[in-house]
Amino acid sequence: MSSVSPIQIPSRLPLLLTHEGVLLPGSTMRTSVDSARNLQLVRSRLLKGTSLQSTILGVIPNTPDPASDAQDLPPLHRIGTAALAVQVVGSNWPKPHYTLLITGLCRFQIVQVLKEKPYPVAEVEQLDRLEEFPNTCKTREELGELSEQFYKYAVQLVEMLDMSVPAVAKLRRLLDSLPREALPDILTSIIRTSNKEKLQILDAVSLEERFKMTIPLLVRQIEGLKLLQKTRKHKQDDDKRVIAIRPIRRITHIPGALEDEDEDEDHDDIVMLEKKIRTSSMPEQAHKVCVKEIKRLKKMPQSMPEYALTRNYLELMVELPWNKSTTDRLDIRAARILLDNDHYAMEKLKKRVLEYLAVRQLKNNLKGPILCFVGPPGVGKTSVGRSVAKTLGREFHRIALGGVCDQSDIRGHRRTYVGSMPGRIINGLKTVGVNNPVFLLDEVDKLGKSLQGDPAAALLEVLDPEQNHNFTDHYLNVAFDLSQVLFIATANTTATIPPALLDRMEIIQVPGYTQEEKIEIAHRHLIPKQLEQHGLTPQQIQIPQVTTLDIITRYTREAGVRSLDRKFGAICRAVAVKVAEGQHKEAKLDHSDVAEGEGCKEHILEDAKPESINDATDLALPPEMPILIDFHALKDILGPPMYEMEVSERLSQPGVAIGLAWTPLGGEIMFVEASRMDGEGQLTLTGQLGDVMKESAHLAISWLRSNAKKYHLTNASGNFDLLDNTDIHLHFPAGAVTKDGPSAGVTIVTCLASLFSGRLVRSDVAMTGEITLRGLVLPD
Ligand code: ADP
Repeated sequence: MSSVSPIQIPSRLPLLLTHEGVLLPGSTMRTSVDSARNLQLVRSRLLKGTSLQSTILGVIPNTPDPASDAQDLPPLHRIGTAALAVQVVGSNWPKPHYTLLITGLCRFQIVQVLKEKPYPVAEVEQLDRLEEFPNTCKTREELGELSEQFYKYAVQLVEMLDMSVPAVAKLRRLLDSLPREALPDILTSIIRTSNKEKLQILDAVSLEERFKMTIPLLVRQIEGLKLLQKTRKHKQDDDKRVIAIRPIRRITHIPGALEDEDEDEDHDDIVMLEKKIRTSSMPEQAHKVCVKEIKRLKKMPQSMPEYALTRNYLELMVELPWNKSTTDRLDIRAARILLDNDHYAMEKLKKRVLEYLAVRQLKNNLKGPILCFVGPPGVGKTSVGRSVAKTLGREFHRIALGGVCDQSDIRGHRRTYVGSMPGRIINGLKTVGVNNPVFLLDEVDKLGKSLQGDPAAALLEVLDPEQNHNFTDHYLNVAFDLSQVLFIATANTTATIPPALLDRMEIIQVPGYTQEEKIEIAHRHLIPKQLEQHGLTPQQIQIPQVTTLDIITRYTREAGVRSLDRKFGAICRAVAVKVAEGQHKEAKLDHSDVAEGEGCKEHILEDAKPESINDATDLALPPEMPILIDFHALKDILGPPMYEMEVSERLSQPGVAIGLAWTPLGGEIMFVEASRMDGEGQLTLTGQLGDVMKESAHLAISWLRSNAKKYHLTNASGNFDLLDNTDIHLHFPAGAVTKDGPSAGVTIVTCLASLFSGRLVRSDVAMTGEITLRGLVLPD
């Protein structure tokens, strides 16, 4: 114990006067500096000084708060602590002040105050001279015993604390490594002591006295801790008793009761899951993630919300077809036969699909363009996609993109979100269970955009053959190889497909069908399919071609055949009722042994009376098979025709002409109506027209006026000046639909020419084309 103190403080020290807290040697504290003297000290000594010595201060505790600068130096505590200023932090708000971080070095005693302003400086005497230690106490043994006792208490105290806390473990080590003489100061600043007690310890210059004074403080703290631990244990016991209720109840439970089963099952599930992960053929990266997650899952209590999340995630990971695929059947001749069998007409589409499949047969990779079928609804786009999957022997999955406006629909939500789930692509793969299905991205033209990102942009990555081999869904967070998936897109129009997406795809137009094609499709595909769906046979129902034509022209108006298909569905339902009732009646008649002649049977549907199908009295006898669907039966089932005579009726007066319009749903005919009245030569246009269309109308009038004589066009009073005392009103029906484009020009001219000449426009001609001022008609 005869070590020499490593600390030598200067004999003159600037004094920092503190009024709160006592700094003991070996401890550190933060003190606020806001009095004028202390501020001066910090500024001129700490902030300006450059040597290590200039950072050593004499900290004098227990100084009354100096109210103002004018005041004389207050009476100072004679003993202080020499300290090292470790950190100075300054602030100007709410008033200028500093915060000092100071570490106590050793005690000192003020010998004499040398100066008071701007901050006090004193001549000091260092008190903690460790080499004097043996002389200051009575005997070495006595102090040795005291310090040993102190050490034991200190160890007891520290070991009562939670040793897993790093600071406590460090303190325990310090007790052994520090010189025993330093311990009283350090422990006093750690344990709960009042400022007064600390001051007493500071004043205890003699080591023996210091040990003697600190031991009771240590004992007090130990007792306090013991008491605390006792009450805690009490509480813990209470808690334990609550927890214990469950296991006890479980023991008394009937074996195999639900609760036990649930937990066991859960445990079994986790074991199963782990086994599945081990045996799964997922790539290494995914495998690593799974192993990590299952480790976490095992440690998690089941009540944690994250437990279910992680488990769902892992279940998806093992379910995904990382390496599972079907073998392609690539026989072009068989594919051609299958496509022809399934679909009538659409030659261009079938040709391109066969080319695509042929290339695949020759070169066994799929880095070709993505096919995109564009056409009106009901022309068989989806159905061709399904056939492609069938010809290849692949699984088929349709992803409806209409209205999708969030990119996480495609790419999934991150797992941090509540209710997060994978995107539609990964979900689709999970559903089909193989990694090379045919994915039909339906309605790519109806993708929306929102604040949640652009789904079209997310699709770019999916559809790019260069990128999609490591497509990363946000939910999975590991790459999945999409390069084996065959993507086919469908759309009604290319106008609303984002250009970047359009660029990735090869567009194949699927035009609408002509009436003749529709009839063929109906008889080859739609009717047989509907009959099968309704459990009918051709022996029970017969739909002649004229009826089909009637349905096409008078009950539907569409480019595709979906509505037509539905009408057949309606007919089949009505006939199914008839057939079922007929069978019932037949059985009844047989039963009552009533002899029936052929002539008695009634031709219910051939009967011209429309109410026949609903009239119960007519059902007395079963209908004759097959039930023939003629015009009357059609009216009976589908109601009065929807589009009957409209064209010829509307064209029964001058001033009406038919134009052709283009819509994403296929071609439309559009009536243009004109009327004239007394006025001042005004032209009124209605029907939500765009600027180009309005210009066309003005152009038409100008041309007609300039050619009025040539074509004998006159106003109401027979004058060649067409607008003289006349107002003209042009209307384009379907007023709620915005219309624009130059191609209505020729229809407007025809319509107005009819109005001014009083001659009717032919009802079987519809027209489209732009006109010029010279009267030329430009093709569209
Ligand atoms: P889209 O996807 O173009 O809207 P769908 O593929 O759903 O149309 O077709 C609607 C219905 O019409 C399907 O039942 C389909 O079988 C049938 N269909 C369309 N075109 C044809 C065709 N050329 N040959 C046979 N059936 C067709």
